[in-house]
Amino acid sequence: MPDSTDYRRVIPSVDKILRQTEITSLQSQFGRDLTLQAVQSVLSELRQSPEVGVTIERERIAETINALVATRLDEWTQPTLRPVINATGVILHTNLGRAPLSKAAIEAASEVAAGYSNLEFDLESGKRGSRTIHASSLLTHLTGAEDALVVNNNAAAVLLVLTALAKRKKAAISRTQLVEIGGGFRIPEVMAQSGAHLVEIGTTNRVHLSDYAEALDQGVQIVLRAHHSNFRIIGFTSEPEISEIISLAHAREALFIDDLGSGAMLDTARYGLAHEPIVQESVSSGADLVCFSGDKLLGGPQAGIIVGRKELIDKIRKTPLARAVRADKLCLAALSATLLHYLKDEAEQYVPIWQMISLPAKLIEQRAIKLQKALSQGEVLPASSTIGGGSLPEETLPTFILSFKATRPDEVSLRLRRAATPIIARIEQDRIIIDLRTVLPEQEAFLAEVLAQVLA
Ligand SMILES: *Cc1c(COP(=O)(O)O)cnc(C)c1O
Repeated sequence: MPDSTDYRRVIPSVDKILRQTEITSLQSQFGRDLTLQAVQSVLSELRQSPEVGVTIERERIAETINALVATRLDEWTQPTLRPVINATGVILHTNLGRAPLSKAAIEAASEVAAGYSNLEFDLESGKRGSRTIHASSLLTHLTGAEDALVVNNNAAAVLLVLTALAKRKKAAISRTQLVEIGGGFRIPEVMAQSGAHLVEIGTTNRVHLSDYAEALDQGVQIVLRAHHSNFRIIGFTSEPEISEIISLAHAREALFIDDLGSGAMLDTARYGLAHEPIVQESVSSGADLVCFSGDKLLGGPQAGIIVGRKELIDKIRKTPLARAVRADKLCLAALSATLLHYLKDEAEQYVPIWQMISLPAKLIEQRAIKLQKALSQGEVLPASSTIGGGSLPEETLPTFILSFKATRPDEVSLRLRRAATPIIARIEQDRIIIDLRTVLPEQEAFLAEVLAQVLA
C-alpha cells in the first residue's frame, strides 16, 4: 500500500493521460477542450485529497483516473432539463412542466423546428407576412371572438393588455381577486407595473354590483376580473355574475377584461369536477378581452392567449411590449395543432391532459393491479388525483394508487428520482405513492423495472 506522498508522485502528467486510448475516445465523443478540462479537474482534485489516493493501487491509477474523467464528462454534459415520469397524479404539475403535448402538436413543432417556415412570410403575395396570424383564425373560430393574439405566457398577456390599454387610467379589480398566482405573479403588482391606477373595490369575501357602479362613477375605465385559480373562498361570499358587470361597464363606456387563468375549452363538469369558466362563455358574455394560458387546461404549449375585440387587439399588437413577449414558431405550431383538436371535437381523445382527466378510475385500478403483480408488492388503494397548475383547487378525481411501505421513504424517493428517466412519486407518511393517472402508458414498463430495482 503506497503512502500518500508516494501516491501523489505517481499521478501521471496531463500529457500522458491524454495519450491513453480511453481518453482519446472520450476526446472524440466530448471534444478535446472539454476532455482536457475534465482531466485537469480530476487531477487537481486527486492532488488536493491524497486520502483518496491511498485507496488506489499504483498499477490501477491510470484506470481510476480514466473512469473519473468519464464520469465527470457525463456529469458536465448531462442536460439540466430532462424528461421525468410524473407518478404524482397531479395532472398539470407546474413544477413538472404542466401539460404534455399531443402527438400532432409534437409533430407540428418538430416539423417547423427542423427547417424554414412561413413564420412571417405571405405565401400568396411572396411578401413579408405577420406571425400573429398563426393560430389566430383557429382561435376566432373556436371562441367566437373577433381576433386573437398569442404571446409567451398568460402573465405576459395580462401585463401586455394592461400596458396597452390601462396605462395612466383607473383600473378596478375586486379585493376578492387580488391573487398571487405562483412564481410571484401578483395581480396588484402586475397592474402597478403596467402603469394603471389600481382601484380596489369590495372586500376580501364579498363584492357587489354597486361597488362596481361606484367605481365606474369615479372614472374607472377598465374593469379587470382575475380568476381565483389556485384558491377558493368559501362561506359568506359573493361576486356578481360577469354578464351583470359587463353590462354595467359597457353602459359607462368602460372595458371589461377577463383573466381566466386556465381557460378551459371543454366543460370540466362533464368529468365530475366543478365547472371551470370556459373561454367561449366569457366571450359570449361580452368581455372585451379574455386572457388565458396555453399550457393549463388547454393542454398545449406554454403560451398566453388574448382573444376579443379586433380594434383592441390591433392596438395591443402595436405596443413595443408585444414584440418583447411574442410567441415563437415552435409554440405557434404546437398551439395550432392543439387548437385543431378542439375544433375537430377530438380533444378528449388526443390531448393528453384530457385523456388523463377522463381516464376512468377502473382502468387506473387495472393498471395498478398489473404493476403490483409484476412487483409482487405494494397495495392498490382508492385515492384522489388532482388537476394542479392553479386550476380547480380542492377538486379531485377518484383514482387508485399503488402504495408501498418504506422504512426510509425519502431515500426510496431519491433513488426513484435518480433513475435514467427520473420518477417523481408522492410520499405520504411512511409510504411511496404511485398514481398511474399521469404516467403515460409507454412509460409503464420502465417504471416497473425501476421500482423492482429500488424496492428490492
Ligand atoms: C396561471 C395564471 C396566470 C399566469 O399564467 P402563465 O401562463 O402561467 O403565465 C395569470 N392569471 C391567472 C388567473 C392564472 O391562473
